[in-house]
Amino acid sequence: MRDSNCIFCKISGGEIPSKTIYEDEEFRVILDISPASKGHALIIPKEHYANLYEMPEDAAGRVMILAKKLAGHMTERLKCDGFNIVQNNGETAGQTVFHFHMHLIPRYAGDGNQDKLCWNHLELSQEELDEIWQKLK
Ligand code: AMP
Ligand code: ZN
Repeated sequence: MRDSNCIFCKISGGEIPSKTIYEDEEFRVILDISPASKGHALIIPKEHYANLYEMPEDAAGRVMILAKKLAGHMTERLKCDGFNIVQNNGETAGQTVFHFHMHLIPRYAGDGNQDKLCWNHLELSQEELDEIWQKLK
C-alpha cells in the first residue's frame, strides 16, 4: 500500500527523483540527502510500512539479505574501512521519516563520527538486570 502523504512512498515509487544505487520490484536504495558519511544509503521498500513492527517477517528478511549484498558491494567500491547498519523505529528511537528504511553507513578511519554510533552505557544493578531478563526470556 502506498501513502500519498509519504515522501519515501514518492521516492521509492520514482515520483520524486533520487540518487538511486539499486532498484528491484520490492526495494529502492538511495543515497541519503544528509549523510553521516560518504556513501550513506537507505534501503526503502516500495510498500508503505511505518516501521519494523508493521513489516511482514518475510520482507524484513529480504531487507537483511539485500543489506548484506550492498555492504559487500559498497565496501568494495568505496574502499571503506567498516560499515554500520542502523534502523530506527519510533520518534523516541530517532525515527524522522515514518516509512521503514534501513541505513547503510560506510565508515572510514577518521571520518569524524564516534567509532560506535552512539549510545550511553547504563550501569544496571543485578536486580535490574534480572527484572529485564525475567520479562524477556
Ligand atoms: P530516520 O531518522 O531513521 O527516520 O532517517 C531518515 C533519513 O532520511 C535521514 O538520514 C535523512 O537525511 C533522510 N532523508 C530525508 N529526506 C530525504 C530525501 N528526500 N532524500 C534522501 N534522504 C532523505
Ligand atoms: Zn510511505
